[in-house]
Amino acid sequence: MTPDVDVVVVGAGFSGLAAAAALVSAGRTVTVLEARERVGGRVESMLDGLGRRVDSGGQYLADEMHAIRGLAERFGASLVRNESPGDSITLPKECHDDWDHGEQLYEELRDLHHADPHVAFDAWVDGLEASECTKAAIRSCTDGQMCLDHRTLGLAHVAHQLGRTPPLAAELQYSVEGTMHALAEQLAASLGDCVRLGAVVHRIDRHPGGAAVHIDGDVVRCRHVVMAVPPTAAARLVFDPPLPDRLAAALASFRAGDVTKILVRYAQPFWHTRGLDGTVRFNDPCGLYVSDASASDAHALVMFVGGPLAATWRGLGETARKQLAVQHLVQAFGENAAQPIDVLVRDWPPDEWGGGGYCQFVTGLGEPVQIDALMFGTEGVQFASTELAELFPGYIEGAVHAGYRAAQRTIDLLDDPPATTNLKE
Ligand SMILES: Cc1cc2nc3c(=O)[nH]c(=O)nc-3n(C[C@H](O)[C@H](O)[C@H](O)COP(=O)(O)OP(=O)(O)OC[C@H]3O[C@@H](n4cnc5c(N)ncnc54)[C@H](O)[C@@H]3O)c2cc1C
Repeated sequence: MTPDVDVVVVGAGFSGLAAAAALVSAGRTVTVLEARERVGGRVESMLDGLGRRVDSGGQYLADEMHAIRGLAERFGASLVRNESPGDSITLPKECHDDWDHGEQLYEELRDLHHADPHVAFDAWVDGLEASECTKAAIRSCTDGQMCLDHRTLGLAHVAHQLGRTPPLAAELQYSVEGTMHALAEQLAASLGDCVRLGAVVHRIDRHPGGAAVHIDGDVVRCRHVVMAVPPTAAARLVFDPPLPDRLAAALASFRAGDVTKILVRYAQPFWHTRGLDGTVRFNDPCGLYVSDASASDAHALVMFVGGPLAATWRGLGETARKQLAVQHLVQAFGENAAQPIDVLVRDWPPDEWGGGGYCQFVTGLGEPVQIDALMFGTEGVQFASTELAELFPGYIEGAVHAGYRAAQRTIDLLDDPPATTNLKE
């Protein structure tokens, strides 16, 4: 088989684009096959009702995130500090201090390296010596951050995920001037014409020393494949011969979450005049979180509706959901919040391209070893995607890390191929 390119990268989210950029700069020929008609994956932008382009998916980054900051610097993208001094609100109000305690306990989960793999996350929360408000805060943080029902999670899996996430001084510290999505577009443009949009990969035939990647009406032959798609999207593909059982099982153990991002614009940042920073931490409903999302003269609050709450709210229909969103802001900030000038809603339920929440997770009980197996890959195929990041899984930073790691491993394998071939291992 004569390869068309050295490497096919499947997926043009940040992990795929980062992998492709690293491969190209190492002198490899690359084709990126992207199912959607745009790059960015879970990073995307939309025009709001006032005609402003805004990030409707992944957006924020922080000082500790060196890989994505490096890309922003490379493309001359300015970072806008998401600075909003003042106090946060917790609802119900009497739970304010308990929320801080809940957040602290949630953060400490990253140190539970040896958590019992047979303990359900919710059983662990139940057994904590903490107030009911604190326990509700932990559940709300978990639904909000993992975009899944906390009752479906195992303690060890949550601890393993958080253990790969270094503490952040401020999670929503910066956004990118002109959108994070524009940065993805710049990165894609720097790769020249090797990115093919609307190219849905549905089958990969693996041969000794190469692979044939099938899209509708075409086949791209390569020496190596980087699967930069979320695990549920990778699990949908046909591999011939099939992936080794441990990898197929690992991919199948992931679940996509559900989140809705709602941007509510106001003529004035009324929360500032009351000494508030715009943050609202909801114990009830579980999984709702609000933050200031103002940019220069555009004043806005962003609502993240994570986990089962996202589906419940979606079921109400568009108008009722917008009304409910505004009602929750009125509950927090008073009547000033009742008259937004625009409400933009973007749903991210599970979809065929692996969307659904910020990150996919292993649910249920059992040892969290699957991710390591996927990080290692198999003959001719490496896996990237934020889920498989050693650092910052679930973030854009994690996607870039995973892309760079998969690219480096691919370069090493191309330079020094294994002496023997066994496509079943
Ligand atoms: C609402 C929302 C808000 C978020 N906010 C933040 C934030 O503020 N900060 C942050 O760091 N992170 C945030 N995230 C998370 C972050 O966006 C993601 O973790 C990250 O972008 C994932 O990148 P990825 O490349 O791993 O996967 P993806 O972005 O999902 O890219 C995978 C790509 O593969 C493509 N694909 C799938 N199947 C196929 C196929 N068969 N053939 C070809 N192509 C295929 C998909 O279309 C997609 O483009 C947010 C996510 C969401 C949804």
